[in-house]
Amino acid sequence: MTKRDFYEILGVNKDASKEEIKKAYRQAALKYHPDKNPGNKEAEDKFKEAAEAYEVLQDEEKRQVYDRYGHEGLRGTGFQGFAGFDDIFSHFGDIFGDFFGQGGGRHERGRGADLRYDMQIELEDAATGTEKNITVEKYAACSECKGSRCEPGYSPEICPACGGHGQVRRQQGFFAISMPCGQCGGAGKFIRKPCKKCKGTGKEMKKKELKVKIPAGVDSGSHLRLVGEGEPGTMGKPDGDLYILIYIKDHPNFERHGDDLVTRLRVTFPQAALGAEVEIPTLLGKAMLNVPRGTQSHTLLKVKGEGMPSLHGHTKGNLVVQMIVDVPEKLSKEQEHLLREYAKVSGGPVSKKGGFFGGRK
Ligand SMILES: [Zn+2]
Ligand SMILES: [Zn+2]
Repeated sequence: MTKRDFYEILGVNKDASKEEIKKAYRQAALKYHPDKNPGNKEAEDKFKEAAEAYEVLQDEEKRQVYDRYGHEGLRGTGFQGFAGFDDIFSHFGDIFGDFFGQGGGRHERGRGADLRYDMQIELEDAATGTEKNITVEKYAACSECKGSRCEPGYSPEICPACGGHGQVRRQQGFFAISMPCGQCGGAGKFIRKPCKKCKGTGKEMKKKELKVKIPAGVDSGSHLRLVGEGEPGTMGKPDGDLYILIYIKDHPNFERHGDDLVTRLRVTFPQAALGAEVEIPTLLGKAMLNVPRGTQSHTLLKVKGEGMPSLHGHTKGNLVVQMIVDVPEKLSKEQEHLLREYAKVSGGPVSKKGGFFGGRK
């Protein structure tokens, strides 16, 4: 088999930075991870290929050798290529470690994969908290073999290659490296008659309806973790988790700043100058706002407690109202007359009636 170009495998340019290489590898590794593609030989090969490419390209020295002399050059340095899944996870643990915060469990062999679901909700829902029904499609135990991976009437036997331990030891220099048994993939079991329905994987794709409780106060980027609602674990390991990522739709009238909401209110010049008590819409209803005498345009006024509830605790943010003092574009005859009277006593020149262009004198 001719070896593919390492840059091509990761889909990066020849001058890609370490960060770009790491990112590309992480994407490939998550996509082709054997836990996510059980029994898929092609995905496993792709996974190994990406790991090998990453191991070379993230290492300054190896990368230089590869750039100058290609695959052939690396052989001269004793580069072994793909070393085994356990090694991959210990070497590149940081790559998976930060994927979902401090999950940690990602490294555990056999643990079900975590899943992610993006959910868009209205700002009002975020203010009150809500409940949503979602449908997730994920692997579940095969309905025919109940996850045993065997045809009815058969049961898994002890793997002859590893004696049921799932691990085999290999000497490498001074070190004895323990790695998953290639025969049984680390399961320690030998399946004589694989279940026809799931082809011996013990899993099948199923839709599942879930009720998700969304607490009041969530914001875009908040995530909810539903423990055990990811993909099922194998070898007695726990199921993965389902992460719900929250996105809040833009609201036409309210902008969120932490727990505060910001809105704009247009008032007339007399209201701003004389002061007024006005009714304003809040996110969930109405409130009265006292506009003080002499309020300037763009002043911020506060309505206490009409913002968003805090996700942690019992406090509520405020509604911040930016005052916009409206200048009328059209005036009635009477308005014009009174305004000119007002201008007279205020002093300062004003344009004559009809404006600058072609008005009657
Ligand atoms: Zn089955
Ligand atoms: Zn085995």
